[in-house]
Amino acid sequence: MKTLKCDLCEATAEGETFEAWMKALMPHYVQAHADVMNDPKKTKGDQRKWMAENKVRFDAA
Ligand SMILES: [Zn+2]
Repeated sequence: MKTLKCDLCEATAEGETFEAWMKALMPHYVQAHADVMNDPKKTKGDQRKWMAENKVRFDAA
């Protein structure tokens, strides 16, 4: 089980895998970073970039 910080604040989420971690982080993201989640300027490409960057962080944790 890995514990990794949110990429935007000090909140943490736990997960066995990156996918599990992302799932665990999601409720926090929706609550604390709704503006980011609902940003209409964000594209699928941004989403992929976010996942790639955070996968690297997860693997390094
Ligand atoms: Zn956060």
